[in-house]
Amino acid sequence: MNPLHWPVRMHIASVGVSKFCFLFSLVFCGLLLLLIPALQPPARQVDLPQPRPQVRPTHASPSHHAGVPVVSVHVGELDSATGLNRSSAVPRGSIEADITRNDNHSHKKGMDSQGGALHGGNGGRLSGSRSEDLLELKDIFIAVKTTRKYHKSRLELLIHTWVSQAKEQTYIFTDGEDKELLMRTGTDIINTNCSAAHTRQALCCKMSVEYDKFIESQKKWFCHVDDDNYVILPSLLRLLSSYHHSQDVYLGRPSLDHPIEAAERVKSDGSVSVKFWFATGGAGFCISRGLALKMSPWASLGNFISTAEKIRLPDDCTIGYIIEALLEVTLTHTHLFHSHLENLQKLPTDTVLEQVTLSYGGFENRRNVVSIVGGFSLAEDPTRFKTVHCLLYPHTDWCPKLKPRYKN
Ligand code: UDP
Ligand code: MN
Repeated sequence: MNPLHWPVRMHIASVGVSKFCFLFSLVFCGLLLLLIPALQPPARQVDLPQPRPQVRPTHASPSHHAGVPVVSVHVGELDSATGLNRSSAVPRGSIEADITRNDNHSHKKGMDSQGGALHGGNGGRLSGSRSEDLLELKDIFIAVKTTRKYHKSRLELLIHTWVSQAKEQTYIFTDGEDKELLMRTGTDIINTNCSAAHTRQALCCKMSVEYDKFIESQKKWFCHVDDDNYVILPSLLRLLSSYHHSQDVYLGRPSLDHPIEAAERVKSDGSVSVKFWFATGGAGFCISRGLALKMSPWASLGNFISTAEKIRLPDDCTIGYIIEALLEVTLTHTHLFHSHLENLQKLPTDTVLEQVTLSYGGFENRRNVVSIVGGFSLAEDPTRFKTVHCLLYPHTDWCPKLKPRYKN
């Protein structure tokens, strides 16, 4: 081999090696680029939006309900002599309010009144409440308890009057099929399959279904009424707007002027005495969602029936027992709810439309009705519900035509 050719050959050889290296590194880089995404840890998947947790009845311990200190507003002050809320019967615009801190069992312990902040004619509204917190009718779940035999004689009147203005939020709980009723109403009619008897067990069975349906509904407030109640929807909305649904709120009217005393069965052989207030179901009552969720261990999925068995009292008393005795949350007494246990004629005529619920006497006391003057005589409207309705909604097609106020 000619030694003269060596450098040339070496040059060619080195060029070949560097070309190979260059190509090799190109391929290597390409491979690396391809592999980089595959080698990344799957951390990004954790950042994907999570589905909103469903609020379902849980069996959480009641001691968990302390939560973060929050503010709740209570219309009126409890009168120490009667235990009744003094100012809730005061007409709109003059409602007094207390702010209480709702840290563990706030209503029983340490009422931290800063009432002055809300006095001065703001109508009991939460001062500084954000606009997105404004309560709407669709946020309220109104349960009407009825029974098959009252579909015609009682329910029909409600469907024609106040229920027609709250079709989306009224849920009728009954105990028998009625296809005709289903066709005529645009509301939910729930056949509870509970017994049609007027027994404690049958009534508790219905309340148990009402509670479960409310929890399922995701609405902010649970209100229960009987089929002989008229609900004045604007007043209900105004009252509930004074509170926040995430707080512990139990609103209603006691039928007694003292707390009820019951024997609470502790074991199969023994019992202890327990005292608590309860809101009478015949006048209607409301419970905030926050409080309703805490009732779950004793109220959801059939537990309500076994809780009622423990004290052997009816549905409305059992609600009071769970809230006042077990959860230690106090009933906020209000005079705005009415049952036929009281003398309804005594209600001042000019305050009737500001009440939240009304009722009427049964057959034994047909004259126990609110005194209100309007388009219908007592004979045409013995319950006064049609008259109330036409004063609230004068443009309803079956209401007497409004007389023109001024002649031209
Ligand atoms: N009720 C019922 N089953 C019955 C009788 C009555 O569910 O067998 C309901 C009725 O529809 C009403 C409530 O229980 O919503 C109270 O009934 P009522 O007004 O007759 O009795 P009171 O108000 O005197 O307790
Ligand atoms: Mn009744």
